[in-house]
Amino acid sequence: MPFGSAAEQSIADRLLLDRVLQQRSAHWKPHDAAIDPERSGVIMTGPRAGTRVADLRGRGCVAPLLIDPAAYIRHKATAETPFIVPTDRLGGVEWEICAQRNAGADAAITPTGHIAADDTAALRAVVRKAVTLDRDGVIVALPIHTDWLRPASFDVLFEACRAIPHVKAVIPSGQFDPIALTSRIQNLRRLVGTLDDVAVIRTDLAAFDAVAHGAVFAAIGDSSFLRHAVPPDQRAWRSSLDDGTPDILVPLLMRYNSGLEVAERYAAVEPPRCACSTCLGRDLARFTTDSKDCKAEARAHNVAAVAPWHAELLAEPAGHSRRRWWRHHCALALARYDDVSRNINSLDGFRIPGALRVWATVPLDAGSSFGLG
Ligand SMILES: [Zn+2]
Repeated sequence: MPFGSAAEQSIADRLLLDRVLQQRSAHWKPHDAAIDPERSGVIMTGPRAGTRVADLRGRGCVAPLLIDPAAYIRHKATAETPFIVPTDRLGGVEWEICAQRNAGADAAITPTGHIAADDTAALRAVVRKAVTLDRDGVIVALPIHTDWLRPASFDVLFEACRAIPHVKAVIPSGQFDPIALTSRIQNLRRLVGTLDDVAVIRTDLAAFDAVAHGAVFAAIGDSSFLRHAVPPDQRAWRSSLDDGTPDILVPLLMRYNSGLEVAERYAAVEPPRCACSTCLGRDLARFTTDSKDCKAEARAHNVAAVAPWHAELLAEPAGHSRRRWWRHHCALALARYDDVSRNINSLDGFRIPGALRVWATVPLDAGSSFGLG
């Protein structure tokens, strides 16, 4: 997927193209999920990310490593201050970029504040500041409220992305599953499919939808905290009681549930076994405590379980074949819900994620007028 001349190839084209990175928190106990040096890598997230990246490098990790300072978690972008750096550090965003590189990151991610819905002044300030930064080795984070993907707002977002010459990393934010609506999924597909230097990070299985539809790369969070950002003035809402156990991916259903919920639903029948490099055939009903070890193992499973999907996706030629593979993969999962709900003898079964239904059912040519064909 060329973008720009050969002399202008960016870090994403050389190193990150087609990768689905693991997004991890530097705050929590590290886990040891395998990092595929050919297809994956890590975005370490949060204030101690530099230390963790240096540690991974020290242990011989040769996969791409990035640092997301995640300023958008606590700060809004404003027309005056689109990028957030600590006030005791001179040098502003350029200092932050140098610090990430010095820590061993392959490229620097800007400390962009959260861009609130329809805050066009803040979005334009991000563009104005971004164009002053070196292009190579800098990824401009765009932590956007998902309302920017509404039909009424999308054109402004699209033009802003086009005006930034760097690789852009879109970070969708909102409550619950913020991009489960058909129109927002289709607009995100248009963005990554029309511009060839847009990534989608800190997201869930939408990372695969993005890469299948032309994103330069993507990153999937290994925990619920890193699969969705929420605006800085809000707390994340949960659709069920927080039972303290980690959320785990149920690969057959392509959905996340708390470990305790999975164990309870499969209490009367054989729980599914997982062949990922973390589980090695063990069942998924074992994530039932709130211990650090249980949570670390759950995070390792969450990223390891999707590695085979990524290999299968990339085995397809970029373009229609990848989109068709992804849609078929989602349709197979969708078709399993009735059987699974009947077998586990649960009154409410498993709810089908809204995004999965869209990925599995929207016709592939729905975005062809925007250059997806
Ligand atoms: Zn597993």
